[in-house]
Amino acid sequence: MKTLLIGKLHPEAKEILKENTKLIQMSNEDFCATTSLFPETEALVLRTFTKCQKNELDFFPNLRYIVSCSVGLNNLDLEEMERRNIKLIHVPGTNANSVAEHTLYLMLSLLREDSVRPFAELKNKTIGIIGFGAIGKLVAKKLLGFDCKVIAFDVIAQEQEVLQTLNTQMKELDEVLSMADVITIHVPLNKHTQNLINQECFAKMKEKSFFINTSRAELLDEKSLLFFNNKFRGIALDVFSDRLKSELNHDNLILTEHLGAQGEESFRDQCLKPVAEFLSILNNNPKHS
Ligand code: NAD
Repeated sequence: MKTLLIGKLHPEAKEILKENTKLIQMSNEDFCATTSLFPETEALVLRTFTKCQKNELDFFPNLRYIVSCSVGLNNLDLEEMERRNIKLIHVPGTNANSVAEHTLYLMLSLLREDSVRPFAELKNKTIGIIGFGAIGKLVAKKLLGFDCKVIAFDVIAQEQEVLQTLNTQMKELDEVLSMADVITIHVPLNKHTQNLINQECFAKMKEKSFFINTSRAELLDEKSLLFFNNKFRGIALDVFSDRLKSELNHDNLILTEHLGAQGEESFRDQCLKPVAEFLSILNNNPKHS
């Protein structure tokens, strides 16, 4: 299988690909510049940082697989892939722990504002989780020991037993926005969720609340965040545009450069698991390998 690996992968996953496929590797920057050089490619292995939409797919007429070693899929044109019969190999939830731990790190750091004493405590605060999937649930689980109230909103109904175990109450979006002292976003980016957190949402959030986004920059209407900036006691973002980075000005601002999924165990899992699944598919179809 002629396989093109773009960007950095965990060394164990790369070794497996090297041993089992005809592998070429290139950086993300080179991929953008030289896609037309490898029309024979049958499989692409990539992470969220590599955009592969219709334009890029046009360079690969023989493509049969995209192996995504990330959780968010907004870098891919899933409809176009389906139309072209390109199979997606993707293992959800592989980096959830890393992102949930990063969210807790951001939450505690925001509450311990550098210059303010006494600082805020999580105890008795209301934490609002928007998007109660793999990461949202793990954030709730990690908050269990902090004696705070956890409320959440999701478009999908949740099992009562899970909610009880995680000591979480599901609420409407407006309720989460207006009740939470800390809001954290864990929703995938797609055509329905772009600008999900818009001007109306920011207007409903509590004065002097804390706001965290570790999902995708495009979930926020950044213009509105700039407008409501001073309403917050603290803002932490793991994902943001260059414009927001240069224009957002807040005494209690934490920006991390898309680090949420970079925990070592999670990085290994999110690379190895999809690669292992890819190989298992190839091994079950020997004519493909
Ligand atoms: P998941 O699919 O397990 O959970 C997402 C949840 O969001 C689902 O329960 C879904 O029903 C819910 N949802 C969808 N649309 C919604 C809406 N309009 N309002 C409320 N809820 C909605 O995904 P996950 O593993 O929890 O990851 C969530 C997102 O986090 C990913 O899609 C990705 O964009 C982002 N992420 C970021 C990093 C990072 O490095 N910062 C790493 C991994 C994932």
